[in-house]
Amino acid sequence: MVADKGKENHQASDQHDVLKSTQTVIHLALDKLGYSQEVYELLKEPVRMLTVKIPVRMDDGKVKVFTGYRAQHNDAVGPTKGGIRFHPNVTEKEVKALSIWMSLKCGIVDLPYGGGKGGIICDPRDMSFRELERLSRGYVRAISQIVGPSKDIPAPDVFTNSQIMAWMMDEYSRIDEYNSPGFITGKPLVLGGSHGRETATAKGVTICIHEAAKKKGIKLKGARVVVQGFGNAGSFLAKFMHDAGAKVIGISDAYGGLHDKDGLDIDYLLDRRDSFGTVTKLFNNTITNEELLELDCDILVPAAIENQITEKNAHNIRASIVVEAANGPTTLEATKILTERGILLVPDVLASSGGVTVSYFEWVQNNQGYYWSEEEVEEKLEKILVSSFNNVYETSQSRRVDMRLAAYMVGVRKMAEACRFRGWI
Ligand code: GLU
Repeated sequence: MVADKGKENHQASDQHDVLKSTQTVIHLALDKLGYSQEVYELLKEPVRMLTVKIPVRMDDGKVKVFTGYRAQHNDAVGPTKGGIRFHPNVTEKEVKALSIWMSLKCGIVDLPYGGGKGGIICDPRDMSFRELERLSRGYVRAISQIVGPSKDIPAPDVFTNSQIMAWMMDEYSRIDEYNSPGFITGKPLVLGGSHGRETATAKGVTICIHEAAKKKGIKLKGARVVVQGFGNAGSFLAKFMHDAGAKVIGISDAYGGLHDKDGLDIDYLLDRRDSFGTVTKLFNNTITNEELLELDCDILVPAAIENQITEKNAHNIRASIVVEAANGPTTLEATKILTERGILLVPDVLASSGGVTVSYFEWVQNNQGYYWSEEEVEEKLEKILVSSFNNVYETSQSRRVDMRLAAYMVGVRKMAEACRFRGWI
């Protein structure tokens, strides 16, 4: 069993530098598109990166100082956009890479945004509700000068949720002296949130799975699905797959995995998970996360964290389709191995773009003060994701490149063009 996943992941991310591998693919994509070295120099790092110190009065009366970041990758297309992560393993490099991935996602689904990302080094699992509120508000005060509804719009990410978005929106509204729902997305419905935002990432992944299964001639009904991670994306995805008639034979959280070759009782597991997506602690017969990834299945969905499929285990993956619901779960070496083995890999920047797509819908609704029905949101999301998937797939076929490089080519094009029109390069 993986008792201390945090530690393990930290070691993995030292070996696999997510920023460096992102830069490698950006470089390749720009080369393929015929852009010069200067364009790469501009896009290889965020244009702006703020590091902040956030003093928080803890419940025991002592003050603890937290470190936070906000990265803005590129604002040529429009304001920057992207989530805020609360996690002990947050690093400056990771936040930078995540902001670049947000730019790519926005490019792939064609939103009028560049990418941004924020993170605070903390462990919300060890903090009280009030401490979390003080930390959230302190972070907003610290970054308030560089964010705003038409500058940079945050959202939820790992271990942040609609309650945290609500506190942040309230804090920003006080600073701004206006009610500013458009400052942040992923809010509760009563505060200007959008229908469908909570399930949007999983819905987007589901749409990609449907399209990928068609390409591979796999019927979803009865297909064996394994989902790594039982947070926002993983848990809703398991539910959607189960509802679509697939057999979810494996799920996991940070502490281990559950396996049943006849299919797990997803509704029961959803019912028992805590707010951090932990459920396996309730069971004795667990498997490790490593074992889970190598289960015999049709569709594998890494929906946890970075660097889970590497050159070490890529040869042992038995799925026909791998859909990356998490950011950065597969290394570049592993991408090569999976592609050579004929496994269809749907990369993170495409598969997980449903979240930011519905965040965009939320921001549009906030700006116009007119709200849409759930059906409207779902219909629009489906249309965008189906055409984005096929755009990336066709680029991969016509340019004879793997799906990750194809996604980067689609994702970076509009941004590079916008930089050129603005006269920056
Ligand atoms: N944090 C999510 C992501 O990585 C959503 C970002 C957003 O909604 O702006 O895509």
